[in-house]
Amino acid sequence: MTGASLFTPDFKALPYWWGRTPRPDLGQPALPARADVVVVGSGYTGLSAALQTARGGRSTLILDAEAAGWGCSTRNGGQVSSSVKPSFSELAARHGEERARGIIAEGHRSLAWLGEFVAEEKIDCDYRVSGRLHAAHSARQYEALAKLVANPPAGIDLAARLVPRSEQRKELGTDVYHGGIVYTRHAAVDAARLHRGLLDRVVEAGATIVPYCEVTTIERQGGGFRITTSRGEVFARDVIVATNAYSRRVTPWLRRRVIPIGSYIIATEPIPRETMDRLFPTDRMVTDTRKVIYYYRASPDRARILFGGRVSWNETDPLKSAPRLHAELVRLFPELANVRVSHSWMGFVAFTFDKLMHTGTHDGIHFAAGYCGSGVGMATYLGMKLGLRVLGMPEGVTAFDNLPFPTRPYYTGYPWFLSAAISYYRWLDRRT
Ligand SMILES: Cc1cc2nc3c(=O)[nH]c(=O)nc-3n(C[C@H](O)[C@H](O)[C@H](O)COP(=O)(O)OP(=O)(O)OC[C@H]3O[C@@H](n4cnc5c(N)ncnc54)[C@H](O)[C@@H]3O)c2cc1C
Repeated sequence: MTGASLFTPDFKALPYWWGRTPRPDLGQPALPARADVVVVGSGYTGLSAALQTARGGRSTLILDAEAAGWGCSTRNGGQVSSSVKPSFSELAARHGEERARGIIAEGHRSLAWLGEFVAEEKIDCDYRVSGRLHAAHSARQYEALAKLVANPPAGIDLAARLVPRSEQRKELGTDVYHGGIVYTRHAAVDAARLHRGLLDRVVEAGATIVPYCEVTTIERQGGGFRITTSRGEVFARDVIVATNAYSRRVTPWLRRRVIPIGSYIIATEPIPRETMDRLFPTDRMVTDTRKVIYYYRASPDRARILFGGRVSWNETDPLKSAPRLHAELVRLFPELANVRVSHSWMGFVAFTFDKLMHTGTHDGIHFAAGYCGSGVGMATYLGMKLGLRVLGMPEGVTAFDNLPFPTRPYYTGYPWFLSAAISYYRWLDRRT
């Protein structure tokens, strides 16, 4: 299927989630002259931090250059994992075994914490411990997964089981993969409903959210900060930067350390229930072992497939990314050749040079960023930790604090090297 026939007549170049959860209308609240805490960015990181500071009695102001939640936090695939990408041995070589164990354990903690948080706060967001099938794109990758399950890092419960190729159809209706691994504790969520629930709790806690208010400078003044925005100035005792892949010139230090990479998703038109039951019999989240990864799932009502991947490093036109994702969908599930696309959208995820998320304080400004495409659980969790740190609470400490946050010479935020890097990774994917 090509050209216009690929798209449904009511096709939208917007996130599928936005149809289920319309963007919040917060009006245009006046910018106060001062606040105890100013949070820049209104995604999961910013709102989760703000929830702690507002509940801790600090007047809290959240500013976003766009609509609230406009960034990744309402565009993602809604897959919740333990988030840490480097292996134990990579982390141990860099940071020592104890710290490596702490980082991986904190990844697992972030996953469990999100489930507890959603339940305690009664956030209606289709959160479900679905498990995730991580499918091997080659026999060699299956062997690597088998080794991981047989020899998990000491003291870490991976909660994973191997699925040989002979049993793959019990998990997923394709023969393309070479088996895989099921992470039984990984979960599914409706991205925008989670964001909306968080936003409602933040507003109830007394914080103010000002959308369409870009922060342009942050300068130290007295014991605090003078923040210049597109709508005037505000003074704050503490500043939290939660801009992740959308970090702008206002935080050059952070911009030199995060690499924005495009991530793309389509939603299909509704598919008959018998087909969905055959293709997704266990209703798990799915990812694969390729470096240029694909990730997909059924929608919460099991009517559609949400299919995502890295089709390009910087393409922003959803009409161009949709056919490439659709082609891969059909390669995996040939019977979907005539299924059309109802939504196509993209966003920028924040990679880092060490493939690890980071949190800390630089020049007095608190930050958490660099979730490398796995921030649903981790951004919400590290945002919570940031908020506790601003309140001066010992519970704000994390295994990620004060890790070296690498950059590269001549890198200022424009990833000129990505096109070549993605081609190289595609080549590696064909060979490994
Ligand atoms: C297509 C896609 C699919 C994904 N799928 C998954 C997934 O399935 N599972 C998973 O775990 N993760 C996934 N992710 C990643 C995850 O969504 C992010 O890691 C997470 O949402 C980051 O949240 P955040 O609050 O840090 O940043 P964001 O939600 O991106 O928020 C940053 C905000 O900062 C604002 N901002 C920037 N600069 C300024 C400024 N100067 N002044 C004011 N405001 C500013 C922006 O407007 C933006 O709203 C995906 C991401 C994308 C794009």
